[in-house]
Amino acid sequence: MDKLVTLISGASRGIGRAVATRLSHENHFVVLIARNAEEISELEFEIDEAGGKAQSFAIDITQPEQVQSTVDQVIKDFGRVNCLINNAGVGIFKSADQFSTDDWDQVMDVNVKGSFLLTKAVLPSMKAAGAGHIVGIASDVSKRTFANGSLYCASKYAQHAFFEALRREVRSLGIKVSVIYPGLVDTYFHDGEPGQEHRSGYLQPRDIADAVSYILQAPKHVLIDELMLHPMCQEW
Ligand code: NAP
Repeated sequence: MDKLVTLISGASRGIGRAVATRLSHENHFVVLIARNAEEISELEFEIDEAGGKAQSFAIDITQPEQVQSTVDQVIKDFGRVNCLINNAGVGIFKSADQFSTDDWDQVMDVNVKGSFLLTKAVLPSMKAAGAGHIVGIASDVSKRTFANGSLYCASKYAQHAFFEALRREVRSLGIKVSVIYPGLVDTYFHDGEPGQEHRSGYLQPRDIADAVSYILQAPKHVLIDELMLHPMCQEW
């Protein structure tokens, strides 16, 4: 059986890395996207060594030309994009008056514009195929807010709205849109290295990888619209 061609943004570390590794064991050819060339080439090598198939592209997803040329190259090489995992994201946390306009642009550009650019680039080939699956890694703060989170929450609410509207647009064309809303996950997203004692109860990146795998394996007639996950230690 032909492998599914799956693009994963933010594949260099954290959730994206776990998703890429997991899917590479499950009949996906994984296309690894992040800015850090060294980290994604290393992951590409690891996946190849383990018998999987991967190709890495060191690009910035906020740059339209870089996103489009990556997707064009993948379609040229493989003729299709079956799945897109819109995962790359950043957070900056301050009181609203302390944000610079650069902070605003950075968070909105990666979390919202990046998801839009990748989606825009893959949709024509999915529409032509009458099939495809787009998964957004949003956040539980797509549905609640917290102090000092105004910018990040605004970006995650926007991502949620984008994917919800997109689902209504493309479902009848055979394209699925699913969104995962994680609570706290132990990754580099938080200050310092993962694995610190005070975060031992957090979700692990592999928990989100399990959720992505479950969503992608749903039978053709089943659409999992959304999945929210929290660690037991986090009140919702
Ligand atoms: P992470 O460990 O910091 O990883 C973020 C990834 O995004 C990295 O691979 C990074 O790679 C990539 N990235 C950032 N800016 C980029 C850009 N401009 N272009 C391309 N890639 C870019 O964070 P994570 O926790 O795995 O986060 C993944 C997603 O989960 C994010 O959308 C985040 O909002 C969401 N989330 C996280 C948590 C949590 O508690 N960790 C909870 C809910 C939701 P480079 O730096 O190499 O570009």
